[in-house]
Amino acid sequence: MLSAEIIAIGSELLTPRFTDTNSVYLTEQLNAVGIPVMMKTIVGDQETYLEQAVRGSLERTPILITIGGLGPTEDDITRKVVARVLERQLILNDEILARIQQRFKARGVEMPANNARQALVLTGSEILENKNGTAPGLWIAGDRNQVILLPGPPSELKPMFENSCVPRLHEMAGGVAIARCVFRTACLPESTLDARIAPIYSKYKNPETTLLAKPGQVDVRLTARGKNREEAERLLRELGEEIERELAEYIFARSEQSLEEVVGLYLMMKNATISVAESCTGGMLAQRLTSVPGSSRYFMSGVVCYSNESKMELAGIPPLLIEMQGAVSEEVARGLAEGIRARSGTTIGVGVTGIAGPGGGSAEKPVGTIHIAVASPAETQHRQFFFPGDREKIRWQTSQTALDMVRRELI
Ligand code: ATP
Repeated sequence: MLSAEIIAIGSELLTPRFTDTNSVYLTEQLNAVGIPVMMKTIVGDQETYLEQAVRGSLERTPILITIGGLGPTEDDITRKVVARVLERQLILNDEILARIQQRFKARGVEMPANNARQALVLTGSEILENKNGTAPGLWIAGDRNQVILLPGPPSELKPMFENSCVPRLHEMAGGVAIARCVFRTACLPESTLDARIAPIYSKYKNPETTLLAKPGQVDVRLTARGKNREEAERLLRELGEEIERELAEYIFARSEQSLEEVVGLYLMMKNATISVAESCTGGMLAQRLTSVPGSSRYFMSGVVCYSNESKMELAGIPPLLIEMQGAVSEEVARGLAEGIRARSGTTIGVGVTGIAGPGGGSAEKPVGTIHIAVASPAETQHRQFFFPGDREKIRWQTSQTALDMVRRELI
């Protein structure tokens, strides 16, 4: 099976300010034609390191794609190093030189002598046209290896790769196309979810199904392979529809969106607003809701009412209620949700109270006892939970469940 390696070149990529986004893009494109990426390397502008990286790759992997270092300056070393490793000459290509000169002339400036370097090509290489910049890409086809040199700027690399490389790689990979999708679910334990969908997905070898579980969330990922994109997508749809029917309202997203983003979208769609009164989550719910850009359109206020006094002061809980029911109770959760909703004048109010541990539990109310209430114009919904795990896990699971209750209220 064909596979690829990527080497991203440039000392700036080794600084904390700069991210190698091109290789993420290339990986996506390669995967889509059925070529997995086995290794990615980032190398600074040093010839010896690059040489080692290139030699290593040629021994391991049939396809090598390099990114960057094709510019006109002294530290643009890619062509030189690859030529040395492949034992090929660098020769000046008159046609490329003329094209580069023409680009400068069109802008009314003389071509700096340095730029002539960009017209150097390895003997026996094929030129990949760069419609958006000066440095052309190169494709060197050998018996054992295909080496592809691409320029660094994404605006040059992307069109070049899509126009000049993808069709050829697709053909080389035997015309295999890959299609993927994800179903993100909330508040269904992995084992329960798997028991429900295993009878469906185990009938299919293709698409392949994988589950990725985090606290309060399981992602179901499907990967289909087909002769072409249409076939892969058809196979994906077939299994996807069955899984979607089975998991129904547990699915909160069909993309990489987070639960708080989805809740934000629903709130905006409904022209609704939200406020939260949190005890055991200590602001996590508000933090997650406001981490979404644009949340000021629907998030009005959040209070952390940790002590009994603050529950009375900030959410208007009657003192007697806490005395009679205890701070961790259905009544207090309802009171928090309704109190914050009334005080903030929002469509939705959320109240959360519970015992995150490790101390504070009792036989009657063990660590992990959580009460969540969601108040809306029509009613106040309440649910009680017993979450396992440590303090952080319980707090996260509580915020996740509260968000999911809001989502369900809004649909
Ligand atoms: P040029 O002819 O423009 O000099 P080049 O092939 O020499 O092209 P580099 O000089 O290595 O490319 O990089 C040019 C710019 O491209 C960088 O400053 C950076 O903005 C962007 N770039 C380079 N490599 C990457 C990468 N791996 N991911 C994202 N952006 C990149």
